[in-house]
This record gives sequence, structure tokens and C-alpha cells, in this order.
Amino acid sequence: MNTSVHTTLPVAVAGQSIPVRAILPWAVFGLIVSALLIYFVGAEQGATSLISGHAVHEFVHDGRHLLGFPCH
Ligand SMILES: [Zn+2]
Repeated sequence: MNTSVHTTLPVAVAGQSIPVRAILPWAVFGLIVSALLIYFVGAEQGATSLISGHAVHEFVHDGRHLLGFPCH
């Protein structure tokens, strides 16, 4: 009687290597989107404002306070 616990994962679950060339464009895209989000949450007001008015500032206002950016 075989009492050993022996499991083998299917090839798809065991892991596949992803080449850096495939990840790099998505990593750059993620960095750009993250930088834009950080900018709009953290610095879109006053002298650094790109969009006139208070609409963007008010839209991200709760996130600004949640993340601890100085506001008012
Ligand atoms: Zn505020």
C-alpha cells in the first residue's frame, strides 16, 4: 500500500517563465498610470494644478486625506 502523499501539479499551474520583453511594456504603462494617479491625488492643486477649477481636486479629495498628502 502506498501511503506517501505525492502530488504533481499540472504544467499550467506549476509555473511558466514570462520573458522580460513581455513584461516591460506593461511595467512602463503601470508606472506611467501610477505616476499620473499620484500626481492627481497629491499635487493637483494651487500652483501645480494642470486643470483649472476645483473639480479634479474635489474628486480626489478623500484619497488625498486618506494617503496623508497635505491639503488644507
Ligand atoms: Zn482637504
